[in-house]
Amino acid sequence: MSDDPTIFEQIVAGDIPARIVYETDTVAAFLDANPLAPGHTLVVPKEAYERLDELPEDVAADVWAAVQELTPRIESAVDADASNVGVNNGSAAGQEVPHVHVHIVPRFEGDGGRP
Ligand code: 5GP
Repeated sequence: MSDDPTIFEQIVAGDIPARIVYETDTVAAFLDANPLAPGHTLVVPKEAYERLDELPEDVAADVWAAVQELTPRIESAVDADASNVGVNNGSAAGQEVPHVHVHIVPRFEGDGGRP
């Protein structure tokens, strides 16, 4: 695996601009650059781990706490009715950035879409 910083590490470091919406010592969240819906947010551990199973337990807990806290806040901010919350875990599953990230995609009654 490459030692180059991932795109998301560069965002966390402030080297690539992004709309950061949440930050703790271990976790950051920012708006997706190509949103599937208004408010589409990515929650990431600040340190890069490629796959879910590589996340230390405490970091995984921090990521999930952020997801739980942010999901209703995002829904409220964009007046959504629900959300898809998910992880593409591995390239065959559609993971493009090799740095664990949880998608929060707001959904709206009748939007007819798929995540
Ligand atoms: P994946 O397919 O790996 O689960 O999702 C990667 C997500 O990262 C995509 O939704 C894509 O739009 C988003 N993304 C890729 N590059 C950037 C970037 O430089 N900035 C932001 N904010 N999002 C990005």
